[in-house]
Amino acid sequence: MNTKNKVLVIEDSEDFLTPLRTFLMLNDYDVLTAETGKEALDKIMEEPDAIILDLGLPDMEGIDVLKEIKRITEIPVLVLSARDSKNDFESAFSNGADDYITKSNLKEELIVVKLNNLIGRNKQTGSNALFGNGKLYIDFRTKVVRVNDTKVHLTEREYELLELFAQNAGKLLENESIFRKIWGDTYS
Ligand code: CA
Repeated sequence: MNTKNKVLVIEDSEDFLTPLRTFLMLNDYDVLTAETGKEALDKIMEEPDAIILDLGLPDMEGIDVLKEIKRITEIPVLVLSARDSKNDFESAFSNGADDYITKSNLKEELIVVKLNNLIGRNKQTGSNALFGNGKLYIDFRTKVVRVNDTKVHLTEREYELLELFAQNAGKLLENESIFRKIWGDTYS
């Protein structure tokens, strides 16, 4: 079984991405990469343990990518940016960034220390179990369900059913087993 931590690096500059990826792999990380915001939001479905996000992306504002990540998941995000004004820091942290490193002050060892901290912290509070198919997103830990962009309120039973279906997506479930799983002993 693969127990390596997985990190998603969102960065469009090859000059930056290539050495960073190599360094992370040498430090025993599995590395996913995305060069655009849109690609990044797809790769999140591979459930990385942490995300490194550059704010200067070609297709979307990095802050908007950050907001979207935080809207659908609790994966920790380390912002890595050339921008270093107080406004940039405030904007990143108020939109959910878990940590921030400026490119001018970049030491790769520091990235690894920060990532390890973020992942350790997150693992203590539970996994990021997340379901998403482009329209429907379910965070199994927080039980937050969204369809397109809208948060959906479900009763407890409705949520349990949806979770069961999502976790068995593509599989055929027998009525009998659905009733037993959801209604348990009260079903006869
Ligand atoms: Ca960039």
